[in-house]
Amino acid sequence: MPFENDGVSHVLHALRFASERHRDQRRKGGEASPYINHLIDVADILWSVGDVRDITTIVAAILHDTIEDTDTTREELTDSFGEEVTSVVLEITDDKELPNVVRKRLQVEHAAELSSRAAMIKIADKTSNIKDIICSPPVGWSLERRREYVAWGKEVVARIRGTNPALEKNFDRICEKAAEGFSAEEKEYNS
Ligand code: ZN
Repeated sequence: MPFENDGVSHVLHALRFASERHRDQRRKGGEASPYINHLIDVADILWSVGDVRDITTIVAAILHDTIEDTDTTREELTDSFGEEVTSVVLEITDDKELPNVVRKRLQVEHAAELSSRAAMIKIADKTSNIKDIICSPPVGWSLERRREYVAWGKEVVARIRGTNPALEKNFDRICEKAAEGFSAEEKEYNS
């Protein structure tokens, strides 16, 4: 499906679709923000930080969790947004049947095979998740668990470097900020 001058209508369509599908979901953070905030954040990181102007990437970013986290099927997504967007979403969809540890390992293993569109969404997604861990950590996540999450995100992103330097730099900065926060928290705990 070629996107030409009608990028905005596709973005709005994706936002409406995603907000309906994720309407009952909240982020894990203490603030329990509506799930759509995360999707807007990922798309905005791509647009504002990564200077991504490819509408297929922006639309796929907004839809990136619909198949994984809602009952949306691949066919539905194809009917509404076409093959191209759907194939990008599928690239970054984990198989929820698999145990968490396996899914995490597979993300690392498959990262290098991602298309550049999927790789950029992956970096923006990890950036958004780590930002949330800093600003509104998931309830009950220990310092160790948060550190592990950041380390895993870094491992994934290490395998897709070279796709979009601005996104990567921003990711590194967020990881540094997370590390500083963790150290400060640890010091406070030990004092
Ligand atoms: Zn996500």
